[in-house]
Amino acid sequence: MKILSAIFLFLLSLPAISQKQVVITIDDLISNGPFIDLAHIQHVNQQVIDTAVSFEVPVIGFVNEQKLHRKNEEVARKQILRNWLEGGLDLGNHTYSHPSFYNTPLEDFKNEVIKGEVFTSSLLEEYGSKMRYFRHPFLNTGPDSLTKAKFEQFLSEQGYTVAPVTVESGDYIFNKMYAKAVIEGDSSEMKAMGEAYVSHTLKMFEWYEGVADQTLGRAIPHIYLCHVNPLNADYLGEIYQGLKDKGYEFITLEDALKDPVFDNTDYHIDKWGVSWLYRWDEGKVKEWLMAEPEIAPEILKKYNQ
Ligand SMILES: [Zn+2]
Repeated sequence: MKILSAIFLFLLSLPAISQKQVVITIDDLISNGPFIDLAHIQHVNQQVIDTAVSFEVPVIGFVNEQKLHRKNEEVARKQILRNWLEGGLDLGNHTYSHPSFYNTPLEDFKNEVIKGEVFTSSLLEEYGSKMRYFRHPFLNTGPDSLTKAKFEQFLSEQGYTVAPVTVESGDYIFNKMYAKAVIEGDSSEMKAMGEAYVSHTLKMFEWYEGVADQTLGRAIPHIYLCHVNPLNADYLGEIYQGLKDKGYEFITLEDALKDPVFDNTDYHIDKWGVSWLYRWDEGKVKEWLMAEPEIAPEILKKYNQ
């Protein structure tokens, strides 16, 4: 009996691995277009905020502050970020102007971080919070391991934690045709792209669940990356619902990063960033990428036109 209760207590102490968890992260605030005008940007951001609020998803948005600075629109553009915090969502730094670290000198890239936090940091403080997370543009973590290490040292001195990504589904590919269809009022193309995006995204979640199983032998909290664009404004709700139906709960980045998988060493150096799950076995990266579920060829063809 004593042994049984000891086993029971041990089981209780284990994390609840049966509960799937995901963080939703949205990049390139306040706009990853194409957009018609400022009103369109405002509308898309508000839809993204409202959907997160109605599904109770603690979304974090990563900002490129350069997008706030447009003649006669600065006040309205800054108000968009305020609306994110009003909705109870979080904000992080995605550099000032979204350069790739791969071809940006270290000092310039550090300046991109400093320049990229000016307004967002003060806004977060106004809301009793602070800037905590940094997301690399293109998920590129540097041109070589020394520069990468120096930059990560700098980030931690500045009080930043890197926001990794485990799931990405090429939303920008579907959005290219979707946003064009919005502008042209082509509702059947919008529906086709929206539905293809949702189904591909849910497929990618299954894929990365499988990768976690194969590499770690267990489930992990996932971190999904997408962008603030017309496609996500209209279809994130279906993705949230799809994830809920799969048994996911939505958590914060802070909670997700408590999982020890995010303490692993990241060895990946390449022009293109990859999922966190591919970053500690360089020999396997190509193999994983080749085996990923593919977007339908007719969609890729349109994208590449
Ligand atoms: Zn980005």
